[in-house]
Amino acid sequence: MNTYFRIAIPTPLRRYFDYLAPVHSQSKQPQAGVRVKVPFGRQTLIGILLEIVHETDVPAKKLKPIIEVLDERPVFDTELLQLLRWCSLYYHHPIGEVMQNALPVKLRHGASTHIKGIGRWQLSAEGKLVNPEILKKATKQIALLSDLKNSDAGLLDSQLTENHVGWRTVMKRLQEKGWVQSIEENALPIAKASLSAPTLNSDQQHAIDRIIEQQNKGFHAYVLEGVTGSGKTEVYLQIIESIISQGKQALVLVPEIGLTPQLLDRFLQRLNGRIAIMHSGLNDEERLQAWLHTQAGSADVIIGTRSAVFSPLLRPGVIIIDEEHDLSFKQQDGFRYSARDLAVKRAHDLNIPIILGSATPSLETLHNASQNRYETLLLPKRAGNAKPPSIHLLDVRSQKMEHGVSAQLLHKMKEHLERDSQVLLFLNRRGFAPVLMCHECGWHAMCPRCDTHMTLHQSKSQLQCHHCGAEQYKPADCPKCKSEDLLQMGFGTERIEHALSELFPRYQVIRIDRDSTRRKGSMEKLLNKINNGKQQILIGTQMLAKGHHFPNVTLVGMLNADHGLYSSDFRASERMGQLILQVAGRAGREEKEGEVLIQTHHADHPLFKPLLKHDYPAFAKALIEERQQTELPPFTHLALIRAEAVDQQCPMLFLEQARLLLEKNSQNDVLLMGPFPALMERRAGRYRAQLLIQANTRKQLQSLFASQITQIENHKTAKKVRWSIDIDPLDLL
Ligand code: ADP
Ligand code: ZN
Ligand code: ZN
Repeated sequence: MNTYFRIAIPTPLRRYFDYLAPVHSQSKQPQAGVRVKVPFGRQTLIGILLEIVHETDVPAKKLKPIIEVLDERPVFDTELLQLLRWCSLYYHHPIGEVMQNALPVKLRHGASTHIKGIGRWQLSAEGKLVNPEILKKATKQIALLSDLKNSDAGLLDSQLTENHVGWRTVMKRLQEKGWVQSIEENALPIAKASLSAPTLNSDQQHAIDRIIEQQNKGFHAYVLEGVTGSGKTEVYLQIIESIISQGKQALVLVPEIGLTPQLLDRFLQRLNGRIAIMHSGLNDEERLQAWLHTQAGSADVIIGTRSAVFSPLLRPGVIIIDEEHDLSFKQQDGFRYSARDLAVKRAHDLNIPIILGSATPSLETLHNASQNRYETLLLPKRAGNAKPPSIHLLDVRSQKMEHGVSAQLLHKMKEHLERDSQVLLFLNRRGFAPVLMCHECGWHAMCPRCDTHMTLHQSKSQLQCHHCGAEQYKPADCPKCKSEDLLQMGFGTERIEHALSELFPRYQVIRIDRDSTRRKGSMEKLLNKINNGKQQILIGTQMLAKGHHFPNVTLVGMLNADHGLYSSDFRASERMGQLILQVAGRAGREEKEGEVLIQTHHADHPLFKPLLKHDYPAFAKALIEERQQTELPPFTHLALIRAEAVDQQCPMLFLEQARLLLEKNSQNDVLLMGPFPALMERRAGRYRAQLLIQANTRKQLQSLFASQITQIENHKTAKKVRWSIDIDPLDLL
């Protein structure tokens, strides 16, 4: 009987490839899920063995042998292999790329799966007694020593690289003195409960009891809907504790900017167990080791961002998704999966419970709960003594504004600052001014590669495109008419920071956005400054809005909430409501009461009403009804085919063909819309277009794509574009 190896190879082709057994065959047949090295065209690539089969369509003379089998033990066990194959079918993404995406970078490139200690540095017993001051002028050593003193678990190589330039030589000095030691054997931070749990309130207790009571019944999905500061994390911690004590693993997914050092500290102080962390701040080796420990079962808790949903769990016990509504759970390029949706699917396949936590659950999740697919657990009150902040609208129509801030808001800011509190202002636009315009001739600074304005960044004297990253010097005069009268129109965080420093010279102004936190470790420093400070003004974007716990903030001002009200994106209003409540959630999280003021030109808009009363359920209900009437998700299912090319015609031509192919096979209840040029047609020098497909059921959508995808892929117009499929797209623009 002939034997062929069916391999998933990282190429954009939607298919697998068959090979012959390696020439120097081992006696043992390799298992599905191992990595193999294969010749592919003129390249050598690393793929994954999907299965061993006995028939192939490939003509015998074209078959080549595998070069080498890289693993004895599979990198993907049966469960993950199944999940990834399912992903490839559901998202219609090439199997090889799906598999590649789920592997740590080092394994993609052939690294060994041998578990090593990760470099981690700690003070020795002697070092703990040393006062860093005695090092006098050796400032680098002092800095290193002080940081080590502040970290019980020790510091990873990557953390040191972030914060201490050239730390290795400095560390060597300290090592020679016998003050530090590297501890390679403890590859994962070990949590040792040093703090005890607070006394739970009855809602928290109920949620925990309910989950623990049913934990051995297999798959069950919970929506933990708790207002900001209601103690959701506390619920997670106690569930995880129970899971660890049964010898099982807990997988915790957090949004991209949710994995703050504060959160990790909380886990380390409250749990007993080994914690694997997976996020983009780690270097490739650390990521690999965390992954291997998870696979080997030597990690009890795995905390990670989106891609951690593919963690190889040896003893799965529970999956938790914090801030489940967060957009960062959806990958927005390449393999466009939703980690939230996959986590639910995975919990189902693993037959374990899953908890979706949020103060503002997505409409999809609420809909699932209303259909009794998920069980809702409510935490309607803030934990401890904290009260919900009051939320008010500031009708800024025809009001006097100073630098985008109304007189009323400025007055309130003064009040709160004088009471020794912090004020947080939110504006979802970084840079100084979004438009630079000539007062004489009307010229605008446009990006040469995109259909959009360039944003002025004053401190760098630069124009930047926030879509393609293009940068230019700010012109001294108008490139068209040479007038020097250039107007800076609109406001970004940099401009507000500048203005507030002048308006409130006595107070420190701290800006948090992508520009001020670009350098590694800078976010941490700014957060520390905020948590140690008293009267301060914080100005920031999304980054400041989510998850953080700032005990001293009592006033939150949203400078502009209006773009969610009349957007062409049908999800914009949902996001606006979530954002308002999340931002509001930063106010008054401890004893001091909080206040939230929202500047708007549409104070009468009905969507605001429930938000002012913290009534997210009512807000969501109105939107869900609207979605039902307009036949939008979650009541219908969408897919988007995107295409782009340097030539303006090509994307439209390709999508017209795709439409014809889909139409040929589609039933009446599948709606094809477009192709249309994208809202911002040209980005980074490429023209973009899209075709939207809407169906009543996922099944219709799936079978339509399944039947036509190969024809679409092989159509000659496809060769001239870059194209992708987005199933359940979150972003339609
Ligand atoms: P969430 O995750 O819902 O925003 P957290 O779990 O971060 O809320 O809790 C908010 C704050 O309340 C934290 O400082 C936490 O330590 C505290 N907290 C949580 N539960 C209790 C409780 N039962 N009693 C007192 N304080 C609590
Ligand atoms: Zn001009
Ligand atoms: Zn651009």
